[in-house]
Amino acid sequence: MGQNSTASKEKNNTSTPIRWGEFRDQALEKEFYNAEITRNLNYVKFTMLVAGMVYFLFIIPEYFLITDVNDFRAIFINRSVVLVAMFCLYFKVKRDTRYDTLIYWFTALEILISISFIFISNQFPNPDILIQAFGVMIIILVIFLINNRWLFSVFTALFISIGYFVFVAISFTDINISEFLAAMIHIAIVIFLSSISSYSVNYYKRIQYLHNIELVKMAETDALTGIYNKAKFNQEYAQMADNAKARSRDLAVIMFDIDDFKAVNDNFGHLVGDQVLKELTALVRRNINKTDILARWGGEEFVIILPDSQLEEALKVAQRLRMIISEHPFHITGAITCSFGVGSFKHDDTVDTLLHRVDERLYRAKKSGKNRVE
Ligand code: GH3
Ligand code: MG
Ligand code: MG
Repeated sequence: MGQNSTASKEKNNTSTPIRWGEFRDQALEKEFYNAEITRNLNYVKFTMLVAGMVYFLFIIPEYFLITDVNDFRAIFINRSVVLVAMFCLYFKVKRDTRYDTLIYWFTALEILISISFIFISNQFPNPDILIQAFGVMIIILVIFLINNRWLFSVFTALFISIGYFVFVAISFTDINISEFLAAMIHIAIVIFLSSISSYSVNYYKRIQYLHNIELVKMAETDALTGIYNKAKFNQEYAQMADNAKARSRDLAVIMFDIDDFKAVNDNFGHLVGDQVLKELTALVRRNINKTDILARWGGEEFVIILPDSQLEEALKVAQRLRMIISEHPFHITGAITCSFGVGSFKHDDTVDTLLHRVDERLYRAKKSGKNRVE
């Protein structure tokens, strides 16, 4: 146990699926991000709207503080551009469903705000560095609030901070050094703390996502054979039957059961019986279409859903499978046979009636000698 857990820890360290706060696997990351942003859509839209309005409303104190009309006009235009950009993105988020490209729009908007902020700071005749530093901090917090790639958030937070301080150092001759240093240190701390907290949120959300995928998989597959279990079959079948009814599409079902399987267990033991079940499902899976759904219905009983198939096609498939199985040399046990019941969806069928009919036919196949299709 102890040895096992160290081994798995080492393995996780060398092949961690998450790096820089995102999945290494790009497709998985895209899938995760889309799910995440879909779930957070209202929150993201709200954050964007409020941030845009608040940013614009700073025009009110500036109206009293900026005496130069041209300077004020420049600031007004500047804040309006950001407001309009926010609104545009707001409607884009509302309409678009391919969210993964949003990352770049979010980042562009954050950089636009940063540039706008630095530009506006430049318009004040005697700026108070500490007050402006508060502004930088708030923008940094908003940057980390909006769902973005962690690296991009860190980058834009650094962009506005470094940009702001470089601009202060260049533009103002009589800087209060202690205020300048204090502002820098506090902003550095804010970036550091925001980055850490954002990283851990990003990290654990993804771990959780992987666990959820694992759980869903466990909930719908049969542990022994790896094919769908009965619960998943019922769900898929109900959906397909509804679809067949609503759009008058064809749908066929094959049910099969291993003949005299009890004897296999009795003669060779349960482990060998398990092996046979695995070997059989692998064999069947290889010999049906990708769109057909194979599931374990019960102990040694299986079902196949054949979408868009009529009874004759399904009968052919069942006969072919019967032949393939009976000719297959199973390890240890040798030859094994199965009995099949086949049926197709009729107009007046409900979800249950077809399964009932197929089950009865399987029973009849057993009664009339096994290793046959009814
Ligand atoms: P028939 O031809 O009428 O189907 O006879 P049968 O012996 O196959 O049918 P029966 O229903 O009497 O027995 C099924 C056996 O399948 C009994 C049960 O122990 C065995 N079985 C069910 N699930 C498993 C499993 O997961 N592993 C193993 N090894 N055996 C299983
Ligand atoms: Mg059986
Ligand atoms: Mg059975």
